[in-house]
Parts: sequence; C-alpha cells; structure tokens
Amino acid sequence: MRIGQGIDIHRFSEDPHRPLVLGGVVIEGARGLGGHSDADAVCHALSDAVLGAVGLGDLGRHFPDTDPVWEGANSVGLLTEVVRMAREQGFGCVNADCTVVADAPRLAPYTQAMIDRLTAVLGAPVSVKATRAEGLGALGRAEGIACIAIVLLEQL
Ligand SMILES: [Zn+2]
Repeated sequence: MRIGQGIDIHRFSEDPHRPLVLGGVVIEGARGLGGHSDADAVCHALSDAVLGAVGLGDLGRHFPDTDPVWEGANSVGLLTEVVRMAREQGFGCVNADCTVVADAPRLAPYTQAMIDRLTAVLGAPVSVKATRAEGLGALGRAEGIACIAIVLLEQL
C-alpha cells in the first residue's frame, strides 16, 4: 500500500470568458481560474497525490507550465496520464478523497458530477467534498480556489 497527498491552489482569472473547471466538470456561470492549463485545481491536487504515492515527483515536473504543449491542457487528460504512470510502476488506486476550499461559487450542486468523472478516471472510488474558508484569508475573500487530495494505492 502507498499513500499520497496533494494540494493545489489557483487564483480567479481576470478573463471573464474563461470557464471554471473543477474535477473535470464545468461550473456554469462561474468565473474561471487563472493558470497555464485549464487550472482544474481538483485534478491537479489529485494528480500530485498519485505522483507522490509512487514517488514520481509532482505535476510540474512531468507537465511543465513553461511548455506550450500544456497551454489550456485538459487536466482530466493529465490525471489520466498520471494514473497510467502509476500503473506502469505497478500501482493501482484504491480510493481517493478530495476537499475543495471555495467561498464562491457554491459547489454542492456539482460534487456528484465531479465524483462520477474522477471515479471513472481513477478506476476507484473518489470522494469530493466542498468547504468554505468562512471569510478568512485570500480563499475567504473568494480570490481563488484550493483543493486538498489524498489517495491510497496498492501494488497490482
Ligand atoms: Zn494547478
């Protein structure tokens, strides 16, 4: 068994046309997050957790944000690739648990869709929970969104 954790944070984008994508799900009518890829903080935290569990470093090492290939990249695709890399090391996912910290927008209506999407990618149960920063700090001022993820892997 191996355990891994990941954390990711993105600030909201100035671009009003950028979609908000979390856990591979587009949150309708919400301001998007800034970043080189699609800025899907849930997929990024989860990917870092999987990479950490198998000792393969972090997402930036494999998909550098200086590389134009990954500009606007679909992060579900990155997560899929990371899961494949873990399998190559002989490890498959047992389960994962993600907590999204966002004071805005309200994510409860979307968590089940994120769970379904991510469970399909990992091939294992994924939990997604949303919480608020209660007005404290940058997240509490709704300047961005953070995600914390933890994953358990087992040797195949
Ligand atoms: Zn990220």
